[in-house]
Amino acid sequence: MSTYVMGMDIGSTTSKGVILNEKREIVKTFLVHAGTGTSGPQQVREGLLKESGLEAEDILYTVATGYGRKTYEGADAQVSELSCHGKGTHFLFPEVRTVIDIGGQDAKVLKLDAQGRMSNFLMNDKCAAGTGRFLEVMANILQLQVSDLEKEAAKAEEALKISSTCTVFAESEVISQLASGADTPALVKGICRSVASRTAALARRIGVEEKVCMSGGVANNGGVRQALEEELGVAILYSPLAQLTGALGAALFAADKVGSKEES
Ligand code: ADP
Repeated sequence: MSTYVMGMDIGSTTSKGVILNEKREIVKTFLVHAGTGTSGPQQVREGLLKESGLEAEDILYTVATGYGRKTYEGADAQVSELSCHGKGTHFLFPEVRTVIDIGGQDAKVLKLDAQGRMSNFLMNDKCAAGTGRFLEVMANILQLQVSDLEKEAAKAEEALKISSTCTVFAESEVISQLASGADTPALVKGICRSVASRTAALARRIGVEEKVCMSGGVANNGGVRQALEEELGVAILYSPLAQLTGALGAALFAADKVGSKEES
């Protein structure tokens, strides 16, 4: 009989979920743009079950991670985001030693050993610059969706420099650049560069060891990935599952738990 486990990543802006079967194959993923303190986690759970045709009783174990993991009551256990991102990344790319994770309100750089265990990390959770929040604020001013930023940046030859390192000042700077007729693609390219250079500084402080990958929602933006590759001078691996890495790691911890239960 098939057995299933669930991983839930309850983020600041987005809730993500993954169901794995007993072979640790991904059965279903689900993402809702509503994070902790909203109905997002509940919607993810319901969406996962509905789309996979499974019942709640079919899920043997659920692990929650993310910013909102401690207030979510639907899980059997909680595991830190850092551990889950490490585990999820190792599953997707076993050769990765440095993970750059940019989410909705923080950015982290993790170092992994050959077994995918975290050996060190650095985090920026004090400042919105260099996070998804910065991109959201800028997209809003430019009347674009965050998902449009990548193709907009790709149209630009040159990036316009954003000098302010603070989101609030950068917002005024972009508004005045727009007022003076700046080219939107060049501005967007500059915005992607700005996020990349903040995170690259974090990565340099901890030391960049190849191979390198990006996780978190901002990894979906090819403009930021490209700018980071240029800043760090390394190739950056990317999976379309990047935003689901934490949920995948949580599901893998759930699979470990069920595996150990079955053996005992
Ligand atoms: P959290 O767990 O903190 O909610 P996520 O890792 O889920 O963070 O990432 C959410 C962030 O990713 C949001 O700020 C969102 O705007 C950003 N994001 C998602 N998709 C894209 C995209 N295609 N381009 C740029 N940013 C994106």
